[in-house]
Amino acid sequence: MTSVYERLGVEPLINAHGTLTTLGGSLMAPEVIAAVAEAARCFVDVADLHDKAAARVAEVTGTAGACLTSGASAALTVATAALIARGRPEVAAVLPDLSALPPGAAPVADVVIVPAAHRVSYDRAIPVAGARLVQVGTTTALTTDELAAALDRPEVLLAFYCAHAAAEPGSLPLPEFAAVAHRYGIPVLVDAAAELPPVENLHRFLDEGADLVVFSGGKEIAGPQASGLILGDAQLTAECRALVTPFLSVARGMKIDKETIVGLLTAVELWVGSDHEATARSRQQCVDTIVSAVADLPGVSAWCGRPDSPGVQPVDIPRAYVRHDHRTAESIRDALRQRRPAIAVGVDGDRIAINPQCLRAEDLGALVAGLTDVLTG
Ligand SMILES: *Cc1c(COP(=O)(O)O)cnc(C)c1O
Repeated sequence: MTSVYERLGVEPLINAHGTLTTLGGSLMAPEVIAAVAEAARCFVDVADLHDKAAARVAEVTGTAGACLTSGASAALTVATAALIARGRPEVAAVLPDLSALPPGAAPVADVVIVPAAHRVSYDRAIPVAGARLVQVGTTTALTTDELAAALDRPEVLLAFYCAHAAAEPGSLPLPEFAAVAHRYGIPVLVDAAAELPPVENLHRFLDEGADLVVFSGGKEIAGPQASGLILGDAQLTAECRALVTPFLSVARGMKIDKETIVGLLTAVELWVGSDHEATARSRQQCVDTIVSAVADLPGVSAWCGRPDSPGVQPVDIPRAYVRHDHRTAESIRDALRQRRPAIAVGVDGDRIAINPQCLRAEDLGALVAGLTDVLTG
């Protein structure tokens, strides 16, 4: 039987790069696919389903509340919109255009403070809700006084923190950042889309002071590719759900369907309950196998390590790094991608980075063979 991809003339590839949206994100486990198929068989009240699935997600993740979304990017927009509106229907109705508020409506705070070191291409999801992003500090320096001065204004709505920028010189530790924000009554939203594993991170950022944290459902959790989570404060996450479950709001284009809700919940339950140590061991073995297969090839250096370049996530998964004395990392990456089956790997500085996160056990042989071919060819 030909696959759906073959019929379309699209060739499956070996993903040794990671949970990239452009490569298909991650692969749902058979249990998740079965749950999605089951959810597709009858009608339900979607708002009721969302509320009940969210309660279960909160329980499983050890958090106060949850909202399921159509991705971490959507989650940033939804969380921002919910914070602007704070349950006021007249505000929710006009977002993202606050100039359309009825005359005489109470003023609305719409400024989101973001440290310069925390600017990421994903933060464009925030103004989509109708907010204005305002930068504080520089990419290499930020003081608590500067942050305090930026937050101490009535038009400030929210402080945004991108978890993978925490080690940047222009960042502050999250507990310190949140303490300053809370002094001015400003909530903190953390983008931790790709910060899993470790599993403890599901509540770590909230424990450190975040009011809301967002994760991708289609990365390490391996739920439906277009799914995401907002976790945190029970009241705020309920207000988020009210914008998502398909009422007419700024989040209408980010609606979540019954299949995604059930698939994501199933994936969260499965992932949280899985043997994380066994997964870590098998990822380490995979990387060791790749390194020992190519390390002795002429002109090649190969070693196992963890990402140390800012923004390369997740840090908690080992990589096989491979460098060739006479070939650029880009040329090796491109040659691997042109093979059949194509192999996708990352480039990190002057080396290629092989990430075992999305690699299927049955792909390891073809990966090693392809890599050996390209490195010796
Ligand atoms: C992947 C990612 C996102 C977007 O996640 P989606 O679930 O694909 O919408 C947002 N922020 C960061 C930091 C990411 O790594």
